[in-house]
Amino acid sequence: MTDCIFCKIISGDIPGDIVYQDDDVLAFRDLNPQAPTHVLVIPRKHIATTNDIQPEDAELIGKMYLAAKQIAKDEAIDEAGYRTVINCNRAAGQTVFHIHLHLLGARPMGWPPG
Ligand code: AMP
Repeated sequence: MTDCIFCKIISGDIPGDIVYQDDDVLAFRDLNPQAPTHVLVIPRKHIATTNDIQPEDAELIGKMYLAAKQIAKDEAIDEAGYRTVINCNRAAGQTVFHIHLHLLGARPMGWPPG
């Protein structure tokens, strides 16, 4: 999508601090990190929200989690623990409408989330 900021990172039109990529998934550091490790894992396919995920996307969504698992290992936060979050729509705080898995770690985290 031409007006999607994350599609522009995928196409290289705007820079991203990319930490992982493969044929289906890209991951880059959040511009406004909420933890020492804060990486966004996105599908190359534009999907606006989790409400828009289709049955044929099931494998793709699984690949996002496999990428997150690998990045957590690379960042050495896998053993201590980390959080993965996908915000859906405005009430949950979604501001970029291309689904993204937040991978947050390297600090203690409370529950419930805000
Ligand atoms: P959400 O509020 O769940 O939609 O998360 C959007 C996230 O994207 C926020 O944490 C922003 O800091 C982050 N973000 C927005 N633009 C960029 C960008 N160009 N590069 C990296 N992260 C970004």
